[in-house]
Amino acid sequence: MRRIIFLFSFIISITSLNAQQKISYLLNKQADLNKITIQITFDALSASDANLVIPRSAPGTYILTNYIAFVDDVVGYTTTGKQLPGMIGDGSFFTFGDSNDPLNKVSYTVDIEKMEIDLLDASTSSKAREDYLGLFGYSVFGFIEGMEAEAVNLTINTDPSWPIFSTLRPDTDRKFGTDSFEAENYATLVDAQYLLGTGVQVTRVEEAPIPLYVAAYAATSDYLEGIGNTSLLSLQKLADYFGYIPMPHYTVVYEFLKPISDRHDYGFNMEHLNSMTAHRDITQEYMPNKDLGNIIHHIGHSWVPLRSWGEGYRPFAWQVAPLEETIWLNEGFTWYVTFYQILENEGILNWWKSNMDNAPDFIKTKTLRELSLLGSTQYASDFRIGKNLFSRGALMTYDLDEYIQKQTNGKKSFKDAILGLLNWTKENQRAFKYNEIEPIMSKATGVDLSPVWNKWQNAPE
Ligand SMILES: [Zn+2]
Repeated sequence: MRRIIFLFSFIISITSLNAQQKISYLLNKQADLNKITIQITFDALSASDANLVIPRSAPGTYILTNYIAFVDDVVGYTTTGKQLPGMIGDGSFFTFGDSNDPLNKVSYTVDIEKMEIDLLDASTSSKAREDYLGLFGYSVFGFIEGMEAEAVNLTINTDPSWPIFSTLRPDTDRKFGTDSFEAENYATLVDAQYLLGTGVQVTRVEEAPIPLYVAAYAATSDYLEGIGNTSLLSLQKLADYFGYIPMPHYTVVYEFLKPISDRHDYGFNMEHLNSMTAHRDITQEYMPNKDLGNIIHHIGHSWVPLRSWGEGYRPFAWQVAPLEETIWLNEGFTWYVTFYQILENEGILNWWKSNMDNAPDFIKTKTLRELSLLGSTQYASDFRIGKNLFSRGALMTYDLDEYIQKQTNGKKSFKDAILGLLNWTKENQRAFKYNEIEPIMSKATGVDLSPVWNKWQNAPE
């Protein structure tokens, strides 16, 4: 009896050890070079089974980016002390030969300077400056295929004089030279941003309903204060609309950059679970209060799609830019809520209509779903596609709102529909399917929304 109990408890302790085991990431900034080295350590597997995947896209970017082009010096390490060179596979991944050697570590370098030169859209690229390293997780961290769900421990090493900040665990009290972070899985690790260097300033915004931070590169103190005030106002307005705040904390990240060429575009910004990143051309005048629309829109994405999303958005197929049918919803619902409802910009309806009217034929003849599939890789690279997606989505939302209010004598509105989607996701913890969207909203409002829904599914022409 005792022996069995002993065995039983032994098994339990082994199992819990396994559950606690983590993948370790080590990020080293190389001195005097705008390159970083990444090292990933994991439970050993046969070298022939190990694929190191480098992402080609990320949720909400709607673009295919060949990050593998900036990766070099890929090496696998076996537990027996062998080094196996990484070989590029038939896609965005490296392999390590067909031996059965137990592989438990890989390392590679990422050339941040080359990335910034080659990628013309500043919102897709990490940045390196004399006093700054600003990293998008998905632009530098790869993963061992099959290990995406495992918890991650990340250690960052940099110059001893450089403070380290991450949106994973925002704090004004930054460590210098080295710091460690925990992420529940690969998706969380790469959703975050990492800001290193003496050029980064961090402030906490007082009196916010959740811990709210501004982290900025090359910002004046006026900018920091202004961004903080605008972020606080945005957060309060969104909280008033939705009635709750789902984020445990939030960081607004701004980079003020000297354009590295005329062709580089600093106009796009990016939303993440608990942060947003904006890029501004430092040679142009900046007024933080004029950025209210931009900030409220991106914080608004922390509700939709980050906490209620369609298929393709999450779980995300990192090796490709996956096809997504609901970009019009992600963007259109958020545009409508933030600009039309919260900021009460009624004139924006005409702009959305003109975006639809002025579109080229290859856009006008596409159904909503077809256009979203096209936008999955080309949302911003042909922004007529992006503008059409959010304009159609926002105008559909306007129609839904009017219809719901009319049918319920003003007792319900689109707010009940979007809260219905958010509640549905909270209960079901998965992506909604395309044909589930209208029924969820109809149920939440008590109105059959299929007439409006069906009308908007068609191509305008
Ligand atoms: Zn957006």
